[in-house]
Amino acid sequence: MKTSIGIKLASGFLLTAVLSIVTAGLISNYMIDKRFNQYLKRSHENRIQKVVKTVEDLYSSSEGFAKLDPFEMRRYAVLEDLYIEIRDREGKTIFSSGQGHLIHKKGMGNMMGPMMGRRMTDRVGEYIEEKHSLKHESVIIGTIHIGYFGSWNLTEGDIGFKNTLNQAFALSVAIALLLGLTISIILSKQMTTPLVSITKAANEMKNGNLNIRAEGTVNTLEIEQLARAINYLAESLQQQDMMRKRLTTDMAHEIRTPLTTLQSHIEAMMDGIWEPTVERFESCHEEVLRLKKMSDSLQDLAKLEQAAYPLNKSTFDLSKLLDKIIAAFQAQARKKSIRLLSNIEPGLIVEMDQDKVKQILHNLLSNAYKYSEEKASIEIGLERDSHNIVLTVRDQGAGIDPKDLPYIFERFYRGDLSRNRGTGGAGIGLTIVKGLVDAHGGRITVESERGKGSSFKVFFPIEILLHHEKT
Ligand code: ADP
Repeated sequence: MKTSIGIKLASGFLLTAVLSIVTAGLISNYMIDKRFNQYLKRSHENRIQKVVKTVEDLYSSSEGFAKLDPFEMRRYAVLEDLYIEIRDREGKTIFSSGQGHLIHKKGMGNMMGPMMGRRMTDRVGEYIEEKHSLKHESVIIGTIHIGYFGSWNLTEGDIGFKNTLNQAFALSVAIALLLGLTISIILSKQMTTPLVSITKAANEMKNGNLNIRAEGTVNTLEIEQLARAINYLAESLQQQDMMRKRLTTDMAHEIRTPLTTLQSHIEAMMDGIWEPTVERFESCHEEVLRLKKMSDSLQDLAKLEQAAYPLNKSTFDLSKLLDKIIAAFQAQARKKSIRLLSNIEPGLIVEMDQDKVKQILHNLLSNAYKYSEEKASIEIGLERDSHNIVLTVRDQGAGIDPKDLPYIFERFYRGDLSRNRGTGGAGIGLTIVKGLVDAHGGRITVESERGKGSSFKVFFPIEILLHHEKT
């Protein structure tokens, strides 16, 4: 059975409170008991010593125990709650207080026993008699027998003290329970209220309302993190949703354009309106190629989606590879009279997947080319710092709208500009770049300003560098 946080917290608190008080109670009860018994024993011994001393003081060398007044002595015995019997050296009883007053007390003790607790009955219950020698100037003058009920003759005051102590413990348990309950109710309220709101938000999201956010003030770190995670989830789901819708319309549009062209061309030729010339077939062929390119891109993407990008690593000179790619790209750049400016740090020997590096640079260069005006420049840089090997591709092209910037690495995302210009891309060039960079343990960033240009930076971890051949 599942229990709520409130009940769990409350029972946890109560259990802790009770256990700690009972433990503290038992330990302190034991300690106090020990000290208390020692104290009682000592005071009993003092009391007996006082009686012995009092009787010894009544003795004189000339008259013996003549000063001893039996009436006074009996009163003293009653007062002290003791049986006193004094014998001379020969063992003859000189005085006996009798046990009447003790027996009376014993009866009372037994009667009060059930009310006062076990100890009093026990102590009052057993009769003990001690025998001590009486001395005068270090000479034995007789013996004294002192009898009483209870090992150390626990008084009612002593028992009262112990009972008060136990009551105090019982009271602390009750107060702790009450406090524990109150605190746990307050704490569980503080925890459950935001959790209920987060659950509500998650349920709303499940039902398709992605505008919902977990709100309210939270002062528990973990719950705040949970609320943030849920809100983040809602935001990314919302973005995904938007991208999915955009993708569907984009794809439909991309496919429809070449298909419509093909359809109209073929129909015109079938109806005899158009002569089937080589140029017309070429135009149809171009459209077919365009469709094929799109399907290839989709296939690339499917590969990308298979998360684990197997890297075929080898050792090569990254600087030389980039120089070669740039040189090969010159032919295309010349079509728009674009200048390629390279600033490549030479001699960077790395262990990477060469084909994937080629594709990264190729995609970034193609984009820079696509979005640049005639006669613009594209800068390509490669340098190392203490933590990274940094590849930069900077253009002076159209720039990226700030509203597009967060999404350009998402699959099929294309800026408005790209679509309006009909640049022909499928919106996955950068998705592939990011996937390949990630596979190498790197990261990619972009800075861009509308009308001024964009700068893509790829940071590869320095670990890929085997050595740096200084020339
Ligand atoms: P596409 O096939 O549309 O170029 P990409 O994934 O390569 O797809 O790029 C996604 C979007 O990012 C593009 O549609 C474009 O809006 C923007 N973009 C990418 N590179 C550049 C660049 N160098 N200059 C301006 N915009 C760019």
